[in-house]
Amino acid sequence: KEIVVPSSSHTYSVWIGEGLLKNVSKYLQKEYSSIFVITDDVVEKLYLQTLLESLPKVHKAVAVVAAGEQSKNITTYYRLQTEAIEAGLDRNSLIIALGGGVVGDIAGFVAATYMRGIDYIQVPTTVLAHDSSVGGKVAINHEQGKNLIGSFYPPAAVLYDVDTLATLPPQEIRSGYAEIVKEALISDKEAFERLLQVNLHDLTKEELQEHLSFGIEVKTAIVTADEKEKGERKFLNLGHTLGHAIETELQYQLLKHGEAVAVGLLFSLFVSEDLFQADVSFSKLYGWLSDNGYPLPAEMLDPEILLKRMKTDKKAQAGKVQMVLLKDIGQPTTAVLDDEQIVHYIKRFRERLV
Ligand code: NAD
Ligand code: ZN
Repeated sequence: KEIVVPSSSHTYSVWIGEGLLKNVSKYLQKEYSSIFVITDDVVEKLYLQTLLESLPKVHKAVAVVAAGEQSKNITTYYRLQTEAIEAGLDRNSLIIALGGGVVGDIAGFVAATYMRGIDYIQVPTTVLAHDSSVGGKVAINHEQGKNLIGSFYPPAAVLYDVDTLATLPPQEIRSGYAEIVKEALISDKEAFERLLQVNLHDLTKEELQEHLSFGIEVKTAIVTADEKEKGERKFLNLGHTLGHAIETELQYQLLKHGEAVAVGLLFSLFVSEDLFQADVSFSKLYGWLSDNGYPLPAEMLDPEILLKRMKTDKKAQAGKVQMVLLKDIGQPTTAVLDDEQIVHYIKRFRERLV
């Protein structure tokens, strides 16, 4: 299946299906002088060989980063640039990001800045990366916060081979599904209701592919309308204000990105129900998250600490926290909350979770 994504610099395709990794050459639209593959040490063992065998016979080099969010840092970024220079990459070279969102984000940022920008292709291998591989946001983290150093730099293509998802541990499936739930919440009530019918423990390949396509289509529609996040692209940050605060506070240990986002999504529904007196399915989502094994650690939710973290969020305005909320499912909006409100809501939310 092909999903076409327009962007201000070029239009690119997201290919989603089985067996793509064995046929990467078919999807390359140019002849590149050399190819530089960036992956992590887990994905390397699983899929690097298959990818390399499917590439055209040009000069190739591979760089491997340690698996995990900790690699999205300036030191690793600099090392990758050094390896790219030493591998002799020129302006007509291609970078391939083979892995999850971490590899995609850092490899994309390397591509965006190497000699002022060279082509790159996303080959996502996690459920979560359906989100990160589309839309052109690339970044690394700063000690002070997530994704603070980055760029908008769309890929030349996205090749999403769903066969690679078979090796994902349950925690990574959960993490990725939080973003699909998010995409449903901001766009489509029926899709949300249908999604909550599934049990992540016995997901079929067909369901998975359908959900991933749905998520990519929602994301594509939004980034097409608002590539540079002046308006509605902000809605994709539903759940992320608290989610990022939790992640940063835990130094990316214990909870996966999507698991932290899941807590953030639930919090957004909690605040929305109170602020707008609307039924946006807080209880329903709470039930589904619990049934599917999402950690909802009330004891980690320290209101004052999280408030401080939430204020370094990129969406913060004049020192106040801005959150994405829902007037109804499929009807996102943003609201600026003052410090007392945030602290108050985190306290009450925490009480609901225990
Ligand atoms: P990840 O890249 O760390 O992958 C998760 C783990 O799964 C890693 O340990 C990895 O080695 C392993 N893994 C990957 N593929 C596997 C496979 N097929 N089988 C077995 N194990 C596999 O994390 P992620 O959840 O994919 O992505 C999270 C990152 O994405 C975060 O840094 C987040 O900020 C970023 N993100 C970016 C955007 C964006 O628009 N750019 C959007 C959402 C998230
Ligand atoms: Zn996310």
